[in-house]
Amino acid sequence: MKMILIGPPGVGKGTQAKLLVKKYHIPQISTGDMLRSNIRNDTDLGQLAKTFMNAGKLVPDNVILDMIRTRFSEADCREGYILDGFPRTIPQAEGLDLLLNKIGQKLDVVLVMTANPEEIIRRLSSRRSCRECGAVYNLLFSPPHSADICDHCGGELYQRDDDKPATIKNRLNVYERQTAPLIEFYQKMNLIRKVNGMGTISEVGEGIRKALE
Ligand SMILES: [Zn+2]
Repeated sequence: MKMILIGPPGVGKGTQAKLLVKKYHIPQISTGDMLRSNIRNDTDLGQLAKTFMNAGKLVPDNVILDMIRTRFSEADCREGYILDGFPRTIPQAEGLDLLLNKIGQKLDVVLVMTANPEEIIRRLSSRRSCRECGAVYNLLFSPPHSADICDHCGGELYQRDDDKPATIKNRLNVYERQTAPLIEFYQKMNLIRKVNGMGTISEVGEGIRKALE
């Protein structure tokens, strides 16, 4: 199963990705993690990426694609993979397409988790963080015993700027703008499967199972 997983912040993509990893015995390839591990292991590509980052530049797509190519050749990718966080742009999608052609592979599916923006804002803006120990709570899903005091250390709980409704709304807008062209791109290749990301973990998992049939 070779797939790309796309979904807005707060839709529970990470949780579902973990379930897919288990079910299909394939790795989740997050480009952020891949980049960090190349740098940590001081690979040639990691060193190259670092020169851009040190100059305050984005790591170019072709460097990321070379990392992906190397990653795809590793043993755990034999049965496939879940690409997460890449591609984000049309040039990246085209680059990936070229790479897959070169190595004789085809994507099976581009799974898009959809969400109701109001619900995402409600979920994410319910997060509270501890000023002292950094513990994170969610008033809806994992509430602390007392609304503004940390269970672990008694520290004060607060809402990080990232968890404020206006910030979340902004991230969702960015996501929509970035994703719409990608969905169109993969729609033309008939790879898009949409799954409602609003529901319990098992409900969403069931939706994914059906979408992948
Ligand atoms: Zn605390």
